[in-house]
Formats: sequence, structure tokens, C-alpha cells
Amino acid sequence: MNKCLYCDATEPTVTFTSQEHVFPAGLGGIFQLPVGTVCDKCNTEIFSPLELDFMRNSFIGLPRQFYGPGKRGSLNPNDATSSLVHLMAFTDDSDEKSLGVMQTGIPFQIPQFRFLGPDTVAVVLDPRHGNVDTQLADFSKAMRGFTDSSKYVHLTDELLQEDEIYFGFWENKYYLCARERSSVSVVLEYLDLLRKGELVETTGREHKKAQVQSRQQFGFNIKAFERVSAKIAFNALCYLNSPEFCRQQQFNGIRQFIASGGENSFVSLLDASHAPLNTHINVAFPLHSHRVFIFPANDQGHLALLNFYGSFNLVIRLATDPAPRGSFVGVICDWRNRKDYNLSDYMRSL
Ligand SMILES: [Zn+2]
Repeated sequence: MNKCLYCDATEPTVTFTSQEHVFPAGLGGIFQLPVGTVCDKCNTEIFSPLELDFMRNSFIGLPRQFYGPGKRGSLNPNDATSSLVHLMAFTDDSDEKSLGVMQTGIPFQIPQFRFLGPDTVAVVLDPRHGNVDTQLADFSKAMRGFTDSSKYVHLTDELLQEDEIYFGFWENKYYLCARERSSVSVVLEYLDLLRKGELVETTGREHKKAQVQSRQQFGFNIKAFERVSAKIAFNALCYLNSPEFCRQQQFNGIRQFIASGGENSFVSLLDASHAPLNTHINVAFPLHSHRVFIFPANDQGHLALLNFYGSFNLVIRLATDPAPRGSFVGVICDWRNRKDYNLSDYMRSL
């Protein structure tokens, strides 16, 4: 009978139809644990939102926007990862700002109204997003649908002047960027006038040529970051060994931490105290690839070394006691070529 690697639940309490990726699909991971290893509840209800948080609200967010991959590991530029909507400033000398997103390192403006003082309202569209008339039609439709009971995201920024209000629409969400949430009334009044036909023309569309500079701030959800990092290492352990191996008692601590959080005594940044770990792996890896290596018999326990984008190193303590007979193994995620490798296969391919 299937038993979940993380929550220990069995059928029929839970179902087992989905497969857990070793590296999250959003990071480009291909390798999966077999069906029946991780239950659907853990996979979709617990881990999916956790991974989303990890990818958007951790320092992974920045390299992921710059390099990729996009949604579900896609390399199609149309699926490029968007950062969260945020206020951007222009690099010219104007005080103008704009709501935008970063897509693979390039700032784009989202369709928006820019309220600058009582009489100045501009529609801002970014021609690089495609046909401007289509964009305007879509934006108008979205604006017509906004009422005082609609939900919106309120953003604020220290750069904002008192009377500046930006109101945008992106991926089915409304964004109000203003010092005060109450500024939404200005937007509602304006939309009301538009609906009644009292304002036939807005003051024109703007396509600003100047570069926009991103002033994005990442929220940092350290807990999601730690748990997802621990999960990648433990998934790799399972992939390279077996679920039975991973159910041994010495791994109960980390399994519980991944499944439900709690005190982190598992994940830390690689520092001088772990220096010997690096010496094992002096080979060339694919550019910007992610890697996880397992060191079963380190003095400090059963350890994993996790590396994102070839630049961030983390040490994950899978178990306190070393496993003397284990061997050095690993997984390499060459997401740019849509390929995962078992370390030994990779070494052989060199
Ligand atoms: Zn489960």
C-alpha cells in the first residue's frame, strides 16, 4: 500500500495520482519521484503554494527572472516569469513612475491609468507587449469590470507623491499604487465618469521611450525557502535511494520539517565550517544549472550540498549521524537544456 513519504498518510485517506519533482518544475526540474511516493495532498495543497512562495519571495526570485526558466520550467519567452507588479522609476530625469513587472531581466509597464493631480489621467500601455489597440480594448474591458466590491492589491512606495495614483491590471488582478488605500475612490469616480460617457477621451496614451528602472523589493519568506531547499535535498535522497531508505528513523526530523515546518536545524548557508564539501566536486557543470549532492558520511552527519544557478550554496543536514556505507551521489538540473542528470551519468558523459 502507498504511504506518503512526507505525511505518512495512506490510501484511502489520501490519493496518489501526482508526482513530486526532485527540483521543482518551476526551477526547470525534470526528475520525478515515482507515483505513490508523495500524496496528492502534500504535493498540491502543501508543496505547490510553498514552492510558489519560494520562487517569488526569496533570493531565487531575482536570478529566476534574469535567467529563467518561466512557468513550469518553460523556455518559451512568452511564458517568461513575471516578477510581482511593482512601482518602477524611469532612468531619465523625470519624476515619472510606472507600474511594471520584470520579465527575464527586462522591465515592462503593465496597462494602467496614471492619475497625476486632479485633471491629468493617462493610459499607459507598453508597445512591447503587443498591439496597443488590442491592449487598450482589453484594458478598457477590465476597467469596466472594476466596482467598489472588486478586489485589488494595494501597493505603496516611498517614492510616491501625495497625489500620485496608479491603477493597473495584470494577469487578472487589479493593482492600486498610492500612498493611501482610500485613493481607490478617485479611481472609482473616474471609472464611473467613463461609464457614463462623460469622459469620452482620456488625455492620451503614453509610450515612453526612456528606460524604466526596476525598484523592486522582494519579500523574503525564509521559512518557505528553508523548507523547499530541504525538500529538494530529501527528494534527491529518495530518488537516488528509495522511499524505504528515506523512511528510516534518522530522517524523521527533516521529513517533519518539510511537511509541516517548525524550528530549522537542517538548512544553512555554506560557510567555512563546511569547506571540505566543495572539494569533491571540482568538475564543470552546465551553465546556471542547479545541483544537489549527497555526502552520507560527513563528520557532521548525513549532509546534502544544494546549489541554485551555480551560485548559491546551501548545506542541508538530512540526518545527524553519518551513514558509513552510503556513497557520494547527486542530481544536476540543466534546465536550460531541459535535462536532469544523475551525477554518475553526468560524469560519464564528460
Ligand atoms: Zn502526504
